[in-house]
Amino acid sequence: MENRIEKMPLIPLRGLIIFPQMVLHFDVGREKSLLALDEAMLKEQKIFLTSQKDAKVEDPEKSDIKEIGTVCNIKQILKLPGNNVRVLVEGEERARLLEITENEPFLMAEVQIIEDAKYEDDKNCEALMRAVKRTFKEYLKISNGGSTDTLFTLDDIDEPGYLSDIVSGYIELKEAVKQEILEAIDVLDRLEKILIILKNEIEILKVEKKIGLKVKNKIDKSQREYFLREQLKAIEEELGENEDDKKEINEYKEKIEEAKLPKEIKEKALYELNRLSKMGNYSSESGVIRTYLDLVISLPWNKKTKDSLDINKARKILEEEHYGLEDVKERIIEYLAVKKISKSLKGPILCLVGPPGVGKTSIARSIAKSVNRNFVRMSLGGVKDEAEIRGHRKTYVGAIPGRIIYGMNKAKSKNPLFLLDEIDKMSNDFRGDPADALLEVLDTEQNNTFRDHYLELEFDLSSAMFVTTANTLDTIPRPLLDRMEIIQVSGYTYEEKFNIARNHLIPKQIAEHNMKDTKISFSNSAIYSIIENYTRESGVRSLERAIATVIRKAITDIVENNKKSIHVSVNHVKKYLGIEIFTSDIINKEDKVGVVTGLAWTGYGGDTLPVEVAAMKGSGKFQLTGQLGDVMKESAQTGYSYIRANADKYNISEKFYETLDLHIHVPEGAVPKDGPSAGITMITAMVSALSGKKVNSSIAMTGEVTLTGIVLPIGGLKEKTLAAFRAGIKTIIIPKANEKDLKKVPKSILSKIKIIPVENVEDVLRHALIEENLNEN
Ligand code: ADP
Repeated sequence: MENRIEKMPLIPLRGLIIFPQMVLHFDVGREKSLLALDEAMLKEQKIFLTSQKDAKVEDPEKSDIKEIGTVCNIKQILKLPGNNVRVLVEGEERARLLEITENEPFLMAEVQIIEDAKYEDDKNCEALMRAVKRTFKEYLKISNGGSTDTLFTLDDIDEPGYLSDIVSGYIELKEAVKQEILEAIDVLDRLEKILIILKNEIEILKVEKKIGLKVKNKIDKSQREYFLREQLKAIEEELGENEDDKKEINEYKEKIEEAKLPKEIKEKALYELNRLSKMGNYSSESGVIRTYLDLVISLPWNKKTKDSLDINKARKILEEEHYGLEDVKERIIEYLAVKKISKSLKGPILCLVGPPGVGKTSIARSIAKSVNRNFVRMSLGGVKDEAEIRGHRKTYVGAIPGRIIYGMNKAKSKNPLFLLDEIDKMSNDFRGDPADALLEVLDTEQNNTFRDHYLELEFDLSSAMFVTTANTLDTIPRPLLDRMEIIQVSGYTYEEKFNIARNHLIPKQIAEHNMKDTKISFSNSAIYSIIENYTRESGVRSLERAIATVIRKAITDIVENNKKSIHVSVNHVKKYLGIEIFTSDIINKEDKVGVVTGLAWTGYGGDTLPVEVAAMKGSGKFQLTGQLGDVMKESAQTGYSYIRANADKYNISEKFYETLDLHIHVPEGAVPKDGPSAGITMITAMVSALSGKKVNSSIAMTGEVTLTGIVLPIGGLKEKTLAAFRAGIKTIIIPKANEKDLKKVPKSILSKIKIIPVENVEDVLRHALIEENLNEN
């Protein structure tokens, strides 16, 4: 199983360990950790928590931090007096720290998610799980901590990893022991450890109980009185006003005056402040009010930056910051020109659609720069609850403002360019549809009175300029789609990637690593080697990451070996990045029966889609396995019927559907694919398997098919052609009706790949099947 690698901010914990499934709150005071929290809130509210080896280290580096930690979801943030913040998090998954990619202004970590192995029908595992459950129940009974809830749900747990994490979260243990459990990657090993610990703890608890009873009887009356008096003093202090409280209230008053809030907002702020003044400093309610006041004071109610609608300047900035993308730039300039004439930036929302890493975010950033607006980015990936957009009511435990208000606060002006990332990755559940809330946000007729449940005040969003990004249009709800102007940003060829790397990514990474006297430069062949042998993607995100790694390793090389400069060559790349991950020949070069390379188009760009078919003696069963969506299943059925109707044309026994079983398999790839464009691929694989003719392995194909064998056009021709090229394919078969789209495919690719346009299945088979086997049938 390949484990995911993700990038997220890191907070090193001192004296605390959190397990997956566990909810925990802790206080954050260090500036770096506060910034990391901020960053996480702007993204997917995910943070990597792992403990420090030595709690005394103030500014830990990678070597000071434990490698195994937990990816957590931030549930709530409460402001405490001073600059401290209390955070409530829920552990999600174990992960291994691979690298700290940024040290300033906060720690950014690259982590590898560790998924628990599955143990289905494993007797050993089942026995261990039962023993842990039984012992844990006994433990809860003795320690008096167990509510019936936990006991009840415990029986329903059938995942060993889940069970072990739930139980570990409950037991009180020393830090070192907890870390040991966290680091037990093997689930059975983990369960065993927990079982031993539980048994031990039960023994200790039993002894403790005995001692406790004895001691309790010995506490005499005077001691008890002393104790009560101390408690009373503490309560009085808590309730009564003290000097610190007054000072804080005055500070807030000053801040409210300075912020020059609109009248209604100011009234609300003073009202809340009055409530705060009547409360104890450390009550949780006062924390809620403080967090609220801070937000109200810092929101940009009136602050605006001055728009610049200078088209020439905009063109210059877009040109300087991005290579290629001529169509996209032109569309954006047109968009801005229209805005200039209408003298406002209102109107349809731009939606940049394309695979990851093709520069959608960075184009949006350039637009912000060219119209002189602050830039703020908010990811909508994984948002499935309306409250994430619009906030929770303050009375709800753990309330935080919705992402829109949070973003506006970050933007520091009320007219920022607000980038809503991954709008296609939103979903909905029983808690209300976030798309509805988003519709209101994006609607210029309504969004001047946007109401966030948490804020309880109207905020004017009408001067913000919203831009969205998506990988695919398929999953965007129709009403949202109607409100947007779509701009397609497609993948890059090797040459384009080379130019982007040389002119943009390398200078950017070098600048980010802040090297003063040392010099690093790249040879052209080194750049090509990174592109061809270490990355396989439509965009340039992995490429940028690989370049960053090379630069980091080169700096280490320079420092360790007292060098002045390094000119990175192909050999350096090999040394720094390890063995080549991709060679140009990933596609099987051998001609085989029943194996065909199709081409698919997904949200991640184009990809190859191998299809395998086996025909064997049987009774006419038709079986489909692997990664097939509903549409692909229908294509397979259509193809099957076509072959039955035309069996004689292809030298296939007419009764094959009674005497042969057919099995179609689409091996799993990294990204799920579905769509009708695998029609001709499946027919070719089936005919090959039924007739015994081999398929030419240097050919790939894409095309939809009708029952009568007509080949229909498909989408994403450019992306598919690029994918075929990346996979080393020499010839591709495309529907004739798609010929017109070839002008979008870069010439450099067309000169290296032969394109065969076809109108019907007969054409496809004539090109794809190798006829020499004809006589054997
Ligand atoms: P996306 O938002 O589409 O996933 P990003 O904007 O994050 O992609 O792009 C990834 C990186 O690649 C960024 O550093 C970006 O500046 C760079 N990049 C992408 N396309 C280009 C381009 N055409 N010219 C220069 N840099 C680019």
